[in-house]
Amino acid sequence: MPNDALGGGSRGPPTVAADGRLLTDGGTGNPDGNDGTDSTDDTDDSDRSAGDDADDRAHVERAIELSAAAVAEGNTPFGALLVVDGAVRVEAKNETVTSDDVTAHPELTLARRAARELDPDERAACTMYASTEPCPMCATANHYAGIGRVVFGVAGETLDELAGDVVTIPCAEVIRRADGTTVVEGPVAEDAAMAVHESFYGSP
Ligand SMILES: [Zn+2]
Repeated sequence: MPNDALGGGSRGPPTVAADGRLLTDGGTGNPDGNDGTDSTDDTDDSDRSAGDDADDRAHVERAIELSAAAVAEGNTPFGALLVVDGAVRVEAKNETVTSDDVTAHPELTLARRAARELDPDERAACTMYASTEPCPMCATANHYAGIGRVVFGVAGETLDELAGDVVTIPCAEVIRRADGTTVVEGPVAEDAAMAVHESFYGSP
């Protein structure tokens, strides 16, 4: 899977998962002959803009998959991805152990990539999805990079109750104190994100 590469430099093609599943909404021409049910048919909590919520949920679930993949590669359970115009542009996993770099958090990796490879308008319009709330270092990097929006699975404070050693200044507080404009939303997938943490750090 193209975990550490931009999507070929083009933002045209739809996003495809590692198993070939189409992540972005195709809508028509389904070869399986599924009937015309829409892409949000498996979600019941459609209280506000169901399409956006379903997309957010799918992207955060992908970030959580990346957090599990990071563990499989010998690192700690954190993953994140950057979405521009509804398409995944780049994904990152924690690499603090294998890179022997305490700053190799996926959200910092993505903020650096975004600052180098996206123009300011793209950065302002993009969303970073993270399995866990970005730490203050990464929150600051997101602010410096001008990332428009951050959505995370589980709060740092919740992880701290399990694992400890988390700097529990909320991402939104860092952005606020910086007079930043990055919108921060979460937690949106607490149970799924914590399941990976519990498998790594142990159950409470
Ligand atoms: Zn961080």
